[in-house]
Amino acid sequence: MTTNTERTSLFIDGGWHTPSTGDVIPVVSPLNEQRIGSVPASAPADVDVAVAAARAARHRSDWAALTPEERAAVLHRFADALDKRAEDRATTVTSENGMPIALARFAEGAAPVQLLRYYADLALSTPIEERRTSRPVPGTTVVRREPVGVVAAIAPWNFPAVLSMFKIAPALAAGCTVVLKPSPETTLDSYLLAEAAIEAGLPAGVLGIVTGGADIGQYLVAHPGVDKVAFTGSTPAGRHIGRVCGELLRPVTLELGGKSAALVLDDADLEATVTGLATASLLNTGQTCYMSTRILLPRSRYAEFRDAVTAMAAGLPVGDPMDEATAIGPLVSARQRDRVLSLIEQGRAEGGTVTTGGGRPAGVGSGFFVEPTVFTDVENSSTVARQEVFGPVLTLLPYGDLDEAIALANDSEYGLGGTVWTTDDERGLGVARRVETGSFGVNTFNLDWGSPFGGVKASGIGRELGPEGLAAYQNLKSIFLTA
Ligand code: NAD
Repeated sequence: MTTNTERTSLFIDGGWHTPSTGDVIPVVSPLNEQRIGSVPASAPADVDVAVAAARAARHRSDWAALTPEERAAVLHRFADALDKRAEDRATTVTSENGMPIALARFAEGAAPVQLLRYYADLALSTPIEERRTSRPVPGTTVVRREPVGVVAAIAPWNFPAVLSMFKIAPALAAGCTVVLKPSPETTLDSYLLAEAAIEAGLPAGVLGIVTGGADIGQYLVAHPGVDKVAFTGSTPAGRHIGRVCGELLRPVTLELGGKSAALVLDDADLEATVTGLATASLLNTGQTCYMSTRILLPRSRYAEFRDAVTAMAAGLPVGDPMDEATAIGPLVSARQRDRVLSLIEQGRAEGGTVTTGGGRPAGVGSGFFVEPTVFTDVENSSTVARQEVFGPVLTLLPYGDLDEAIALANDSEYGLGGTVWTTDDERGLGVARRVETGSFGVNTFNLDWGSPFGGVKASGIGRELGPEGLAAYQNLKSIFLTA
């Protein structure tokens, strides 16, 4: 990692701002548990400055008066500057949260750049005004898409760079301005975003970054200068933010937790399915919101799949996330490790059998590691089958017929992702249509920049990505003209 890990300023109003207090947030390596750097802790006064700058930029001629072509050119310059820092961003995120580097190179290095370019181009091809013939009184109505204004974007630590960009790219493409608050565990990488914004000449105030935890997040969400909130994080925090935004009648997008199901059908190919599940169920050491962590197996093939899933989980390389071969790195923090270990204990206490894993890996001296763990002999009503673990913990559940499998998949508080595994894609599509969820994969699970992503039930409200993700940052205005 070549980036500066001791940061003393905040990126606000297009430049480096001296924080109003001397408080700092230490950044700790999940691998060796040592301090690797620090960022300043924002105080409410710093948030006030960032929001005021974003409000001023919203109507200033160097942003608001840009043509779509000029704005797209700015965003492509921003993408170019970010691209230069892609490797640094990936290694910084891996140092902060333990994400395996091979994944970080794509998800945290390349993907944010791709997203910026996608939205820059999409905004160019999305008309701002449309004329409709009005009824019942003949005339014309001009329907305009206008930027919602100042966006408070709040990101989690699991995919900090790309999940921030899920919000920043469409918001800027729509002509909004953004104040980003990353997670305290993963703030260092956002300084590379700030440096790219400066190099690209993003107008002052169009993007600002404030640091801190839930308290600063709450202050930002409720700030009178904010017009819209875009949040990714846990369901409890999302409920809180939803309540605040409801009271303020402030538009909000909530991308929250999940407990998705993998439906393995009776015709599934053993090897292809289990290889696919390694990613669909355990990506980023299980710290991914849409993981298929409840694996539903046909009773007729239960033993065969139980043994194969167990062998797959036991065989995943656990270790230093900077090693290209590592599939399972440390969890982000001691708190997260302790939470996962306590849920494993609860699974055992409720009668579950652990077929592999179940604790800290042997021979690992330091680091917030938890072994890939597989549970059998639990009901869908058990804690490990209902609660989002957010770690490398899978639950195997047998089913009789397809209706029972679909009922089990839908028997969850959440509805974010999910997968089906079958040698018959059409059958898989039929299953996909019956699962109550925001996204679903047939023999795979891949997000698509061009299609909406989000949850139903306790997994959230609203959608990111695709044209729908751009529309989330636009207000519609109808202007009635006489015939
Ligand atoms: P978290 O809710 O603890 O924190 C997320 C962010 O919100 C952080 O920046 C935090 O400082 C801030 N925050 C926390 N409480 C807040 C409040 N009341 N008001 C304003 N800001 C607040 O979540 P986390 O532990 O960082 O992330 C893990 C969670 O995120 C998991 O539940 C996971 O499923 C979810 N997640 C969802 C998606 C999705 O797209 N649906 C994607 C990734 C992660």
